[in-house]
Amino acid sequence: MRAAVFETFQGPITIQTVADPTPREHGVVVKVTATGLCRSDWHGWMGHDPDIRLPHVPGHELAGVIEAVGKGVRKFKIGDRVTVPFVCGCGSCPQCSSGNHQVCDRQSQPGFTHWGSFAEYVALDYADTNLVLLPEEINDVTAATLGCRFITSFRAIVEQGKVAKGQFVAVHGCGGVGLSAIMIATALGAQVIAIDINKDTLAIAREMGAIALVNASNNADVISEVKAITKGGAHVSIDALGSQNTCYNSIANLRKRGKHIQVGLMTGDHQHPNTPMDLVVANELEILGSHGMQAHKYPEMLKMIRDGQLHPEKLIEKTISLEEATKALPRMGNFEHKGIMVITSF
Ligand SMILES: [Zn+2]
Ligand SMILES: [Zn+2]
Repeated sequence: MRAAVFETFQGPITIQTVADPTPREHGVVVKVTATGLCRSDWHGWMGHDPDIRLPHVPGHELAGVIEAVGKGVRKFKIGDRVTVPFVCGCGSCPQCSSGNHQVCDRQSQPGFTHWGSFAEYVALDYADTNLVLLPEEINDVTAATLGCRFITSFRAIVEQGKVAKGQFVAVHGCGGVGLSAIMIATALGAQVIAIDINKDTLAIAREMGAIALVNASNNADVISEVKAITKGGAHVSIDALGSQNTCYNSIANLRKRGKHIQVGLMTGDHQHPNTPMDLVVANELEILGSHGMQAHKYPEMLKMIRDGQLHPEKLIEKTISLEEATKALPRMGNFEHKGIMVITSF
């Protein structure tokens, strides 16, 4: 098969012909029809992910058609059109047994723990636990946008944040995660304040439903601005970027008993940020994470998409080829893109 391969971290990514994957006993091989480019792939290429072994094929936000099934697979068959969450659970550890496959103790992640979907075919483990059959109304390109940023935001807003109608929700950072969070919170009837340093990005945040915008460039006092707009602070606030600053602001702009949800990955120098624990105690704030979403929670989200309450396709900036992705991936750290790029030709 053709695949985009890198042999050194931060080195060239080239199209190579490599061996086709074969399914494990409880896994499948999927013929990839669409796969999104994500900053997590960039983190992997940079060498920030300890799971990656070289040479490596990135890619974890995918849709496709089952090409081969392992003999232990019961619920899926060749020809089924499917997607997966980026965290694939084992189905039997204590986390999975409690329904929390998104934090599985033995999780596999295509594009991290094994070769991913920047290729004609990808192997996926524990198919019965992790695959999601795609309804006809949701096309492959849209489905490829769901598996990482969208589901993580969905879980952050719906499960972790329990966002309710009329609440104020602050979203710090308006990339793919942030824009998804704005769309989902707005669909639930929340009033969303979008914070970013780029005015073009903020304009898109407005299109996704944000009722107020805060431009964090020019030394703006983000915390005071959010507190003024929300008359005392946000009920729920999300760091959708993953930085010391956005994390701090997201906690400090909450009202009493508010919830901060960390969605943006904290890597490198940002791993252990300065946190205003004085406010956490005095105001009884909650700090939660969101790490993908289990396959068995997809139906609620897919229903909202089918009912026209959510429009993940609005997050797609453009479709590209596998060749173009080899050039685009190293540039993902530059924040040049206003939406999600999806590879559709291999
Ligand atoms: Zn991703
Ligand atoms: Zn597990």
